[in-house]
Amino acid sequence: MAKKYVYFFGNKKAEGKGDMKDLLGGKGAGLAEMTNLGIPVPSGFTITTEACNAFFKAGKKHPSGMWKQVENDLKKVEKDMGMKFGDSKNPLLLSVRSGAKFSMPGMMDTVLNLGLNDVTLQAIINKTNNKRFGYDAYRRFITMFANIVMGVDRMKFENVLEVMKEQKGVANDTDLTAEDLEKLSEQFKKIYKKELKKDFPQDPYEQLKMAINAVFGSWFGERAYKYRTLNGISHDLGTACNVQTMVFGNMGNTSGTGVAFTRNPSTGEKKFFGEFLLNAQGEDVVAGIRTPVPVSRLQKKLPKCYDQLVKIYKKLEKHYKDMLDIEFTIQEGTLYMLQTRVGKRTASAALRIAVNMVKEKLIDKKIAVQRIDPAQLDQLLHLMIDPKAKVEKIAKGLPASPGAAVGTVIFTADEAEAAAEKNEKVILVRTETSPDDIGGMYAAQGILTARGGMTSHAAVVARGMGKCCVAGCGAITINDEKKIFTVGDLTIKEGDYITLNGTTGDVILGEAKLVKPKLTGDFDQIMIWVDQYRKLGVRANADTPHDAKVALGFGAEGIGLCRTEHMFFEESRIKAVREMILSNSIEGRQKALKKLLPMQKSDFIGILKEMKGLPVTIRLLDPPLHEFLPHTDEDIKALSKSMEVPVDKLRAKNASLHEFNPMLGHRGCRLGVTYPEIYEMQARAIMEAACELTKKKIKVIPEIMIPLVGHVNELKQMREVVERVAKETIAKYKTKVNYTIGTMIELPRAAITADEIAPFADFYSFGTNDLTQTTYGLSRDDAGTFLPTYVEKGVLEDDPFVTIDQKGVGVLMKMAIEKGRSVKKKMKMGICGEHGGEPRSVVFCHQVGLNYVSCSPYRIPIAKLAAAQANLAGTGGKDLSKSTV
Ligand code: PEP
Ligand code: MG
Repeated sequence: MAKKYVYFFGNKKAEGKGDMKDLLGGKGAGLAEMTNLGIPVPSGFTITTEACNAFFKAGKKHPSGMWKQVENDLKKVEKDMGMKFGDSKNPLLLSVRSGAKFSMPGMMDTVLNLGLNDVTLQAIINKTNNKRFGYDAYRRFITMFANIVMGVDRMKFENVLEVMKEQKGVANDTDLTAEDLEKLSEQFKKIYKKELKKDFPQDPYEQLKMAINAVFGSWFGERAYKYRTLNGISHDLGTACNVQTMVFGNMGNTSGTGVAFTRNPSTGEKKFFGEFLLNAQGEDVVAGIRTPVPVSRLQKKLPKCYDQLVKIYKKLEKHYKDMLDIEFTIQEGTLYMLQTRVGKRTASAALRIAVNMVKEKLIDKKIAVQRIDPAQLDQLLHLMIDPKAKVEKIAKGLPASPGAAVGTVIFTADEAEAAAEKNEKVILVRTETSPDDIGGMYAAQGILTARGGMTSHAAVVARGMGKCCVAGCGAITINDEKKIFTVGDLTIKEGDYITLNGTTGDVILGEAKLVKPKLTGDFDQIMIWVDQYRKLGVRANADTPHDAKVALGFGAEGIGLCRTEHMFFEESRIKAVREMILSNSIEGRQKALKKLLPMQKSDFIGILKEMKGLPVTIRLLDPPLHEFLPHTDEDIKALSKSMEVPVDKLRAKNASLHEFNPMLGHRGCRLGVTYPEIYEMQARAIMEAACELTKKKIKVIPEIMIPLVGHVNELKQMREVVERVAKETIAKYKTKVNYTIGTMIELPRAAITADEIAPFADFYSFGTNDLTQTTYGLSRDDAGTFLPTYVEKGVLEDDPFVTIDQKGVGVLMKMAIEKGRSVKKKMKMGICGEHGGEPRSVVFCHQVGLNYVSCSPYRIPIAKLAAAQANLAGTGGKDLSKSTV
């Protein structure tokens, strides 16, 4: 028997279910679930994602048996709806739309009115007694089919439509008569033939086959591919294809179409939120061609439908126990639901909805914690306009995606991308956006559109990206050719600064001051629950007392990495470091180190004091030498004076220190092995700071960390140095300090020999930046030029410097953990590479049994949330970073 590739839904019964997203895609699963709930859904069927994958495997051919199943289910639809596909009296028309497991807004377009041809058109006209309606549907179908299925530029049709409107002296499509549209349909068929060198297909089955193939084909379309790459969605999932009976929102003023959210997706407020258009088809709402009105107004226009819609959305929300995004169409007073799925939301809305739903007893605290997307929390840490700033508001649009953005105006997505590559901050200004603009939207600081509603492409996509967006700002007129936009008398040119407030919809002239937002009570509540459910500790990477304070504010449980070389970037200090590196004698180095010791000591006092008795891991110097060597002759001359060494000699020394591969050169503990006095000074500064604070009854827990160890003897020798100094210092101060000495595991050899190293280390901290660099043989400093291409081309699924490469680096980590703990059973282990704040990596760290992760202060809430979710998900740890919310 052939594999089942097609799942029917209709007449209150569906073969699929809501939890079959992998197979039926989000839309297909939603349609099946709604049908089973007894909600009015036009009949149809879903062709599975497996069929899509099989289609590509077979060289773009249907898998065996699929078409037969399509024909069978089409018969069921015909029976259910009492209509026949291609019939000359009562023809069934279909919509064909893609729907993958993860929603990809605007990525794959829907074909409506499929099944129309010269014969069925007449039947529709006779049946509806509405010639205008028939021809309107036909000209739309020809355009969509040509554009979406056959790839003809939509403008070829739109231009003809515009000419017709001009000739007739009308502004809107709705003002065109039946005869106008009839003429247009004929012209459109001619354009089709001219462009594709064949007639517009009259066989409805042929149309269906071509549309299904196009849906499958679009999975590997450039736009969809880019979206998946940007969002870390696997290219292997495939898309499902939904074929469904058409219902018409454009059959007069008792018809309409709309999209809505069961709660406000921007703020989370518990209020039905959406937009609709009377006498319109779905594409009009989504594309932002006409600006829709709030859904609440439907209550006046079509009260029965509104009441029914309210009942349905409440039923759906209760069933799914989540905020939903729904699409509906009303055909001559009858309401149909076309789609439901978990609604995309801003981070603050996600928090509010989760907290409220716990209060409403719809969900429990654990689910509330699992509902928040850790990566999305970033949004809350977005900038906002300083409330005290005086700003000049020039226009107001819809507050489509919160936050604020400042940048220079740019009018095309490509230019936005090019500007971002040059590190320029730009605001993308478009009449309306399309999926082609994704790259530019991503690259821009913010997005401003002249048309479209809160559910337009720009709004939905920007919200998903967590990017500030003001949409539907009708007050601005854009002239793409002249690269300007005008607001009243004011002209803004390309390159002029503007500021957007995505929370209010304000467009502001010039550069406003931006500030970090305040976090709300909902955030605090979620974080309290997060702390209840997480096992993994969360520390911060912090190099200054100020960073330490910020980290504590975010709830850091210690410092996992204090990079001491970062303390030397300041002008006065870097000189002393240079003197130390460039001196030829131990005396010279001692002299420079003497200058550095008090500076270091005061830093450590500041940090240890700030952390109030929490552990502080201080890493001894790990300078890639090239970052510290003098770069100009002036620097060398200045140094020669202060060091009292001839310029030539100093120049020669500087040249001798040049390295071909500084990242693999004289850095980390290699510096300590060759010049132990450097680590000695640092150990002394740490221990003196710790002793002085202890004497003042301030609790301190210093953890001294030796970097870049590859061989046990490196650690053995460095430990001896540090231990000797620590003992001397403690004796000198006549006090007691709880200190430990550990190492980083950041070279493959260290991971492989972790059992040999363990006796000399009190703790391990994984330096996954270097571990990734050395495992892959990828230079951290140079990989940026080609790694993005690797990800784009699918060579790598993810950038290994962003998320831990679990199959390579991760295996080394597991090995080191096992080997280390085979010697010291309870050895404390953490991670301090950049991965420590990345949700998927945090889940991995939980799974492999680390004690803590350490990340930049602003990522602490994200790391904590990911840690709690990993714990709640159990050892199987679902892939949280790709949650559908
Ligand atoms: C690391 O290598 O992961 C690490 C934390 O050290 P650094 O980034 O300073 O080399
Ligand atoms: Mg490192």
